[in-house]
Amino acid sequence: MAAVTAAEDKSTYMPEALYLHHDEMFETSATVVEVGTAQIKQKTYYWIRLDQTIFYPQGGGQLSDIGTINDVPVDYVHRVNSGVRDIFQITHCFEKPIDFAVGSKVVLKVDAANRLLNSRWHTAAHVIGHIIETTFAQFKPFGGECFPGQAHMKFRSEVDQFPSIGEVQDAVKEGYARLLQENPPIRICSESMTRELVIGKFPPVGCGGTHVYSIKEIGKELTAVGVKCSRKKGEFTMSVKYSVAS
Ligand SMILES: [Zn+2]
Repeated sequence: MAAVTAAEDKSTYMPEALYLHHDEMFETSATVVEVGTAQIKQKTYYWIRLDQTIFYPQGGGQLSDIGTINDVPVDYVHRVNSGVRDIFQITHCFEKPIDFAVGSKVVLKVDAANRLLNSRWHTAAHVIGHIIETTFAQFKPFGGECFPGQAHMKFRSEVDQFPSIGEVQDAVKEGYARLLQENPPIRICSESMTRELVIGKFPPVGCGGTHVYSIKEIGKELTAVGVKCSRKKGEFTMSVKYSVAS
């Protein structure tokens, strides 16, 4: 049994990632190009790779899509980085043994409700990033996780100057209320080599995730529920835990 790791898979072949340009597409067909078994994240999976896919693979802090392929539940979708920027393999994983032949046509169905939930929490992460950066200019976002129910955004600063939790909560509350009222457009800009997300007048941010395309779709409330500050070896970081309510 081979473990699928970035170190072992140096292939620069990549399936067409349809979700990047058609994230409203929840059903399509594809051709199986490879099948296998692997230990991924301490679990044994049966997997297939396709010539194209609508399944978002876990990465960038966003959970993978779930759904079905030929009505067989897809339990997890794994991203295998090639070492070359923006080139990666997409491995569709099944917990139970599968019977897909290389070259066969299959029907893909993404769970649309689950995708929408992940897209709302992921888009909310961008909004939190913009609000914090706009309000507390010393802090720049540098990552985080947008798993529904346990999401946080991380920020770093070059100066030892942290806002209080109350100030962060007020900034998010007021900033989001303003955005809800303005309801600016959210769009993907693919003019440069990098796919970028643009929310209203905020600067573009490079992103390969899935999104909703209006602030209202994120939800009625976006709340900073916790703030953790850290000073380590001259590095000043702040983690803002957030919650989204529909
Ligand atoms: Zn994004």
